[in-house]
Order: sequence, then structure tokens, then C-alpha cells
Amino acid sequence: MTSADPRSRIPRTDTLLALPAVQDARTTLSEHAIRSAIDAAQSRARSGQIAPEQVVPELEAALAGQTVASLRPVLNATGVVIHTNLGRAPLSAAAVEALLAASGYVDVELDLATGVRSKRGVATRAALLAHCPAAQDALVVNNGAAALVLATTALAAGREVVVSRGELIEIGAGFRLPDLIASTGARLREVGTTNRTHLRDYADAIGPDTGLLLKVHPSNFRVEGFTSGVSVAQLAGLAREHDLPLVVDLGSGLLEPDPALPDEPDATTALTDGASITTASGDKLLGGPQAGIVLGDNAIVGRMVQHPLARAVRADKLLLAALEATLRGGDAPVVAALHADPSALKRRATALAEAVGGEVVAHDGRVGGGGAPGVPLHGWAVALPEEVAARLRTGEPAVLPRVHGGACLIDLRCVPEAEDARLTEAVRAAVGAGERKA
Ligand SMILES: *Cc1c(COP(=O)(O)O)cnc(C)c1O
Repeated sequence: MTSADPRSRIPRTDTLLALPAVQDARTTLSEHAIRSAIDAAQSRARSGQIAPEQVVPELEAALAGQTVASLRPVLNATGVVIHTNLGRAPLSAAAVEALLAASGYVDVELDLATGVRSKRGVATRAALLAHCPAAQDALVVNNGAAALVLATTALAAGREVVVSRGELIEIGAGFRLPDLIASTGARLREVGTTNRTHLRDYADAIGPDTGLLLKVHPSNFRVEGFTSGVSVAQLAGLAREHDLPLVVDLGSGLLEPDPALPDEPDATTALTDGASITTASGDKLLGGPQAGIVLGDNAIVGRMVQHPLARAVRADKLLLAALEATLRGGDAPVVAALHADPSALKRRATALAEAVGGEVVAHDGRVGGGGAPGVPLHGWAVALPEEVAARLRTGEPAVLPRVHGGACLIDLRCVPEAEDARLTEAVRAAVGAGERKA
């Protein structure tokens, strides 16, 4: 290499490490990330892709653009309230604040007054019981599936779990409830048929090997026509007669009935009807963080708490903090989106269409997350050409619209009204980029 070789002008690593921009980046980026950015800029210069003089500006731009967390916030314009691919329920402002507060050292297992160890999650448990007085006790684990696994393991390992064939559901991503239960060492005892199960089917299956009766809410599909199932109240009578626990897997996590979702089961009703315990998710209709919520009889919950598996599915401090704040704070975003006023949605959609073009069309939102599959949530959307969708998804902020019937539909139900201005700008940019290309 002669001194005329431009590569000799590429800044050396120690020169680059001493740059003020690199020093600043040290507060947010790891040494490893910084060294990789330096290597990348130098090798682009070595291969002639950039001039040696561009190494410093290139490196500075690369460091400025780096974030340590790669999950990107998305404006959910699909009208699907609990969108599994978007992380289900967005947290309320109160829950976000509680998460931040809990991110450092916190008294999650300490009584500050006495300085001695306390029970974990007492405040979250109290908040759950305040919302569901029909329950004697509550237990929080890391998700709904874990609640069910812990229940079947602690109450029925080595024995039979009696469940209707109409309730052997696949939750999503190929995840099947029967497989989940089989993995716990309990044996599944299927009764009835896909469309009809009667009380006597359960009664005939009960024997010395029975560990518990299970009722699962078939949350993500509907069977119509010649159907019949057995109510919680009927099953509770049978369970009591045989001194067996009745576990009701609600799925979606309503604590009380919601008139907007008349077919959605809730914990209060199930427990009042005689369920021993209910299990549910925290990040579906409850609108909180990912969590598994067990509510019900204190002896049964106690058996679950005592089981060694409880430790493996333990809720962390962030979950406990966010769940408590979801319950004690104002309406969670999920609740607001479910109950959004159609005329307010129409007004916002009209304003958006006036700003960016497109047509305001009637558009039903959905509960999503496998909940209330047959329930339309009446509302409105702005219809734009289909090709706008891809530009919206990759824009800043990222916007996920619904693509349906050859159109890109923007439904404002799940977009906080405070974000309307940002959304409008993003849509304007996506529509404009198309027009420039055309
Ligand atoms: C969603 C759901 C589950 C699983 O809950 P996760 O929180 O996703 O683990 C279990 N049962 C039913 C009926 C559900 O709807």
C-alpha cells in the first residue's frame, strides 16, 4: 500500500473511539455495539463504498440512529382491540407509571414498617379481590396457560381431568389445550361430542381416578345449530356431590359481566355459580400486562400456591405492579376501545379523510385475541388504495391498517385520540409517497 492509497486516510480505531459522539454514545450503547459501528464504517471505507473522509460522519449518524430495544411502537388502525401480533392489550397510563416505578428496587417482598420479609404480591391480590368479591383468594402467575398448567398439575397430576369434547380448543399458533393438559401428567378424560355434551356425560366419567372437572370457554370460535353444553351451575352441583374441584378457564379475563359482550363469561358469575376457581389472562379483556389470574376458593388456591411448580410460573415485580395499577387506575385502553362511541369514531374518521383523502366507510371492529368472535363492534374507517398499507407499516410512526376487499382501511377505534395528529401526518406521508411515484 503506497501513501497515495486512499485507504491510508481511514481514521484509526483509537481516533474514532475518542470522538465526542462516541463518548456520548457510551451512556446508552454497549462497548460491543460501539465497536461494531466503528468496524462497519471502517470496512465500508476500506472496500471503497465511502470515502475515508466520510467515516466520521457515517459513524456519527449510525450511533445516533441506534436504539437498544428493537420493538417498534405501532399505531393499531385495524379496529381489532386485542391484537395478538401487536402484543395484545396496550397498558393504561397508570400501569406504565407503575412499571417504571417498579423497575428499580421495590418492596415487592418486604414490609418497610417492620423491615421483615412479607408475602409477594399482596397489593395486587387485594386489588383483584376488591374487583371480584365472589373470590376468597387470588393468585397471579405469568400467563393464562401457566394458570391452567398449575391448576391441573396441583389438583390432578396422575389423575383424570374431565372435559367436554366441545371445549378442546387450539388457542393460537398451534397451541392446543389438550396437549397442554397432557403435558402436566394429568390424563384427559373427554366426554360428550363436538356439538353436544350433557350433564350425564360428566357424571358417567367420574370415578376414583377423577382429579377435577374442567370447563373451558371456547373463546375463539362458535358452534351453532344443534348444540348443548352444561352450565357452570350444573357442573358445580355435580362437582360438589363428588367432592371434586371445578376449574373454569375463562380465557379473556372479564371480572364482571360486560353488557357490550353478553356471551363472554366472567369470574364473578362463574364463582357465584359454584366454580372452585377460574383462570384467565391479564392481557385480554382486562387490559393489563401478560398475566395468568386465578380467582376462587382459598383451599384450592392454597394447593396451587404450595405446589413447587408455582415458583416456575411466578409473576415478576413488573407484572404485579402493572396489573395492580390496571385494576386501581382509570379505564384501560382496551376498555375504552371496546366501548368507543360510534359517532365519535365517525367524526374522527371524517376529519382524517378531509386531511388525507379517501372515503369514510362503515367498518366493524372486533374484540380479537380469540375473544367474542361473533361480536361486531360498530364503527367507521377511512378507505384508501390498498398499496398505501405497506408504506404505512414501514413509516414513522409505524401504522398497521386493515387490508380487506382490495382497500387499506384505517379504523381509529384503537388509536388514542391524542395520537390523531401523528396518525394523520403518517397517512398523509404514505398517500403522498404514492402520488409522487405515480
Ligand atoms: C387465551 C386463552 C388461554 C391462554 O392464555 P395465555 O394468557 O395466552 O397463556 C387459555 N384458555 C383460553 C380459553 C383462552 O382464551
